[in-house]
Amino acid sequence: MNPIQGNVSIDAQNIMPIIKKWLYSDKDIFIREVVSNGCDAITKLRMVDYKLAEGCAIHVEVDKAAKELRFIDDGVGMTEEEVKTNINQVAFSGAKSFLEEYAKSEGKDDDQNGIIGHFGLGFYSVFMVADKVSIDTLSFREGAEAVRWESEDGMSFTMGPSERAERGTTITLHISDAEEEFLDVWRVREVLERYCSFMAVPIYLDEIKEVKQEEEVKVTGEGEGAQAESEDQDGKAEPEAPKPINDTKPLYAKAPQDCTDEEYKEFYRKVFHEYEDPLFWIHLNVDYPFKLKGILYFPKLKEKFGGIEGQIKLYSGQVFVADNIKEVIPEFLMLLKGVIDCADFPLNVSRSFLQNDGYVRRISNHITKKVADKLTGMFKTERETYEGFWPDIHPFIKYGVMREEKFAERMKDCLLFKTTEGKFLTLDEYKSRNGEKLPDKMVYTSDPARQDAAIRLFTERGIDVVVLDQLIDVNFVSYMEYSADPESKFKYCRVDAELDSLTSDAEAPELDGDKLTALVREAAGKDDLTVELKPLANESIPLMLIEDEQTRRFNEMGRIYGRSEFNMPAKYSVVLNSRSKTVQKLAEREKDERSVLLMHQLFDLAELSRQPLEAEQMTEFIRRSMEIVEFAAQM
Ligand code: ADP
Ligand code: MG
Repeated sequence: MNPIQGNVSIDAQNIMPIIKKWLYSDKDIFIREVVSNGCDAITKLRMVDYKLAEGCAIHVEVDKAAKELRFIDDGVGMTEEEVKTNINQVAFSGAKSFLEEYAKSEGKDDDQNGIIGHFGLGFYSVFMVADKVSIDTLSFREGAEAVRWESEDGMSFTMGPSERAERGTTITLHISDAEEEFLDVWRVREVLERYCSFMAVPIYLDEIKEVKQEEEVKVTGEGEGAQAESEDQDGKAEPEAPKPINDTKPLYAKAPQDCTDEEYKEFYRKVFHEYEDPLFWIHLNVDYPFKLKGILYFPKLKEKFGGIEGQIKLYSGQVFVADNIKEVIPEFLMLLKGVIDCADFPLNVSRSFLQNDGYVRRISNHITKKVADKLTGMFKTERETYEGFWPDIHPFIKYGVMREEKFAERMKDCLLFKTTEGKFLTLDEYKSRNGEKLPDKMVYTSDPARQDAAIRLFTERGIDVVVLDQLIDVNFVSYMEYSADPESKFKYCRVDAELDSLTSDAEAPELDGDKLTALVREAAGKDDLTVELKPLANESIPLMLIEDEQTRRFNEMGRIYGRSEFNMPAKYSVVLNSRSKTVQKLAEREKDERSVLLMHQLFDLAELSRQPLEAEQMTEFIRRSMEIVEFAAQM
């Protein structure tokens, strides 16, 4: 061919600065782009001639001395015409339209800009890191001649004959000084492992160690690979073939019936660097109406009160796209760990595609449905297993139910409540067990140890108390009351907020309410306390503090969201048990120092069973206790 010089496009001058600016944070994406092009080239060859493509691979060479990073494939290659079309026009126009799309959103929606880099923009992304790029390529077509394309800035190029003698393409990047990290073999390996670990063609990372007498020494399979080789040996010192850095047939791409439990667990450990096994998993495998494969894992909860942090890796045709893309993966599913591969998902995606495309929405709905199906199926046929998982999966399920109406609809009969006695009950089961004694209400504890005394009041009467002690439960309880079934009058009350079911219809004496109220107010030092006189079923409790459920919840939410400044003063009332002997005595007695002291003690005792006393209050409480003990000793 005759040497050619040219400009990629008249607008090119405008685009390189934009590429550099926009993609600054995710530069390493160029490796994915170049390797995936090589992968495509080999896949194309496979389709033309399966035999010819056997053993084809991509080699990534790190040549620090020459400051070069080379990507070598033995795929279809390109003819001169193809370089003109595919590189000078196609690659450029792809980059251009991609950037135009994003440039529109500059300055707006800051949080969305973060995803730009993830998607890359094809071949041209190499100019983010290279100050000179060349392509040497020889097409598989008969009679084709090798072509060399070279450019320093992605704007102007030269084309001429190449010395390349074998089919395929070599992309040589002369790495610019500022981007030297990409000449570090470990850095390159890290990027390859991130983006290319499931690509369908074997990828080898070769480090060009040194240049001796103009002969290059190639070291294949450095680091991990080399170690693995020696482990593989079974005594005989036969040299092993170098290992590719990727798994060309990842487990998720296989048919579920061909995968064993051990393989699922191993895949989980490897992909997510986890030591602990997952609880269970869902293997997605759909061909129609869209192509979707993947595995979603339910991890064990790490810390009881800690947040859950999942990771959903999105792939497109075995090429990594990004983690946790909220447009594709329903937000609540990001609490899981998994890989999702949408083969029809383009690598170069625009924002409008993500936001408006029905395809993306359908994928998202499908995944939600599959997860719900798995859970409801397990609930119906393996209730015991489901109950065993509940303590680990309930925050995830509750979050999902609150976030996704469709998920809530499917899961509503499979929500469990764990009782203080370790039983797992659905809402309906709770209602039918307790409805008679406790109509339209569920009592719960947010801290079984602290609230033990109050819990007993219910369990002694045969009423189930459920444990709702996680951060998410504060929101969940309100969700259940107001959103899940707005018609229903069903309420959730913490053990110290419910009294109706504790009162007794047994005879109780008429006591002087005004006198007792005055006594309590004086003892507590609060003039505006609400005091009620009620016959409680349990005679041994003289005084209880009942806190208003709604106010408490409101304040808890304030704490969770760090908006405590809007908190309302705690609203509680004092209930005096008219069936308590102590209360009866205090009602009969003329008010004096001792009756105030005793009432004060009762009040603090009730307070103590709800929360620790403040230092000063505690000192006073102990002093008073000593006084009572001394007095008792004299009797
Ligand atoms: P895309 O891969 O989305 O088509 P790119 O900018 O990555 O866009 O690449 C542009 C085109 O250049 C590819 O479609 C392909 O035709 C050609 N190409 C790039 N790299 C290679 C390669 N290693 N072998 C053969 N053709 C290639
Ligand atoms: Mg590409």
